Amino acid sequence: MAGGETAEIHEFEKKTFFDACLPLEEIARSGPQSLAFGPLKPVGLVDPRSGRRPHAVVQLRQDDLMKNFFQLVGFQTRLKHGEQRRIFRTLPGLEKAEFERFGRMHRNTYINAPLILNRFSRSRRDGRVYFAGQISGVEGYVESVASGLACGLFAARQALGTELPELPPTTATGALLAAISGADWRDFRPCKFTFGLLPEMDAAECRDKKRKKEMKAERACEALEQWARKAAI
Ligand SMILES: Cc1cc2nc3c(=O)[nH]c(=O)nc-3n(C[C@H](O)[C@H](O)[C@H](O)COP(=O)(O)OP(=O)(O)OC[C@H]3O[C@@H](n4cnc5c(N)ncnc54)[C@H](O)[C@@H]3O)c2cc1C
Repeated sequence: MAGGETAEIHEFEKKTFFDACLPLEEIARSGPQSLAFGPLKPVGLVDPRSGRRPHAVVQLRQDDLMKNFFQLVGFQTRLKHGEQRRIFRTLPGLEKAEFERFGRMHRNTYINAPLILNRFSRSRRDGRVYFAGQISGVEGYVESVASGLACGLFAARQALGTELPELPPTTATGALLAAISGADWRDFRPCKFTFGLLPEMDAAECRDKKRKKEMKAERACEALEQWARKAAI
């Protein structure tokens, strides 16, 4: 896979790969076991034949109601089509696979949020314009939905003349909006939610990672409830 022949890359595509969406062959090149710890990681799976955790697995996601087509999850790639057919057929179980559509890379179009947006995901230059979802620089399904919901609430209340306060940075959506609007514009990349975006807890003695996340989540829920009460939502 690491040595597979890739398609020509255009000048405008050369920029960067998003860490969470690296092409398979790039991951494979970074080390012989990288794929097994990446898209092929067998989290929570047991091989029914052996009762043991498999070394690596390929997830097939059903792509149509008739169960005729399946996607290879996480297989974004720049490998040439012939190479994909050759290499993917070496995977056990896929020896006779027919390929309806080949893997490719997707390009993510987004604005430079730190230059354009404030913490309401609203244009600093024209307060009537909001950017929601992927184009605003958030990344992911949940992040995009949350950003869209926030923008909808902000815009509705703006139209009613009773503007909402900023979402607290201790909440997931507030932290995300603060992160995209406050990032370094020179190196801006789409941003997923991680607990690292939330401010640290005062309780520095809490070293247990899981408990720390729980505490941050509890704090976020309280802050969101307070915000909603204050905003009379
Ligand atoms: C291959 C792939 C796999 C992904 N996997 C995951 C995943 O597993 N988990 C995850 O969290 N995220 C994943 N993502 C990212 C996720 O899809 C996006 O972050 C999310 O869908 C963005 O939502 P959105 O509503 O902002 O934009 P989109 O879902 O892109 O919606 C934008 C909509 O606007 C429409 N549109 C565009 N231009 C116009 C126009 N001029 N007029 C009218 N309509 C227009 C488009 O047709 C589209 O329907 C994946 C993305 C890709 C490409």
